[in-house]
Amino acid sequence: MDRADDDPPQGGSRAMMEVTPMEVTEQAAPQTPQQDPSQQAGTSQEQTAATEGLKEAKVIPISKIPISRLIQLDACTRCGECLNWCPVYDQDRREDIIPRTKVRDFYRIIRGQHGLLASLLRRSPLPEPMREFLRKIFGVPVVTEEMVKKFALNLYECSTCGQCQVVCPANIDTVNIWEGLREAVVSAGYGPLPRQMPLVKSVKAYDNPWQQPRQGRTKWIRRAKKEGLLKELPREIKKNRPKILLFLALPSMMPMSGR
Ligand code: SF4
Ligand code: SF4
Repeated sequence: MDRADDDPPQGGSRAMMEVTPMEVTEQAAPQTPQQDPSQQAGTSQEQTAATEGLKEAKVIPISKIPISRLIQLDACTRCGECLNWCPVYDQDRREDIIPRTKVRDFYRIIRGQHGLLASLLRRSPLPEPMREFLRKIFGVPVVTEEMVKKFALNLYECSTCGQCQVVCPANIDTVNIWEGLREAVVSAGYGPLPRQMPLVKSVKAYDNPWQQPRQGRTKWIRRAKKEGLLKELPREIKKNRPKILLFLALPSMMPMSGR
């Protein structure tokens, strides 16, 4: 954790695809791999929090993340191999999303919220200027709402494709870690992201994320029968004991095309 965060990314032999800029959010300014985002981001965020009094973030609960996975994160050498293969980085060139940066940001959150000193300072009745002074002396970063929101955004911009896990020389189980961290940020109230809320509402209301009525699930059957693709309509599973069960994944069942 004391490693320098400013290791330059290793150049990859893999040819980068043509860049198609993704939506760039207000929290996440584009960065180039040559920058030293870890030092710059950390210092500026901490200074901003101190000088402008940005709100401290709620504590991110990490107790549900298996300790073995947290230890794995410590094996990240910042080698940058994941950067060469991450398909999202390929598209928008933001280092914030790649594993080594997320690992760095996560450790900053842990240091600021879960270390012994951090816990003592958080509960301390000392006046804020004194706590700030002690934080500076002991190197305990201030974890602001802004930092955590940005971290949550980076977690969700990851497609969890698993490519970084395959190429990681330290064999870090990245995808399970990202998903565990998503759960943690959501339970602290930093997710789902505002742009995800329509999906959440739709799943609650219709059991699917496309805002399609439940009856839409069986439309394909009638259409298939009409077009001669099915000899007979499937029987009710509750009334018959079938020998074969055909399960179709939701996207293929919903009439998304409007047909
Ligand atoms: S490839 Fe693995 S060890 Fe290297 S920076 Fe990425 S996560 Fe860390
Ligand atoms: S899981 Fe895929 S998208 Fe996410 S950081 Fe790893 S390589 Fe990038």
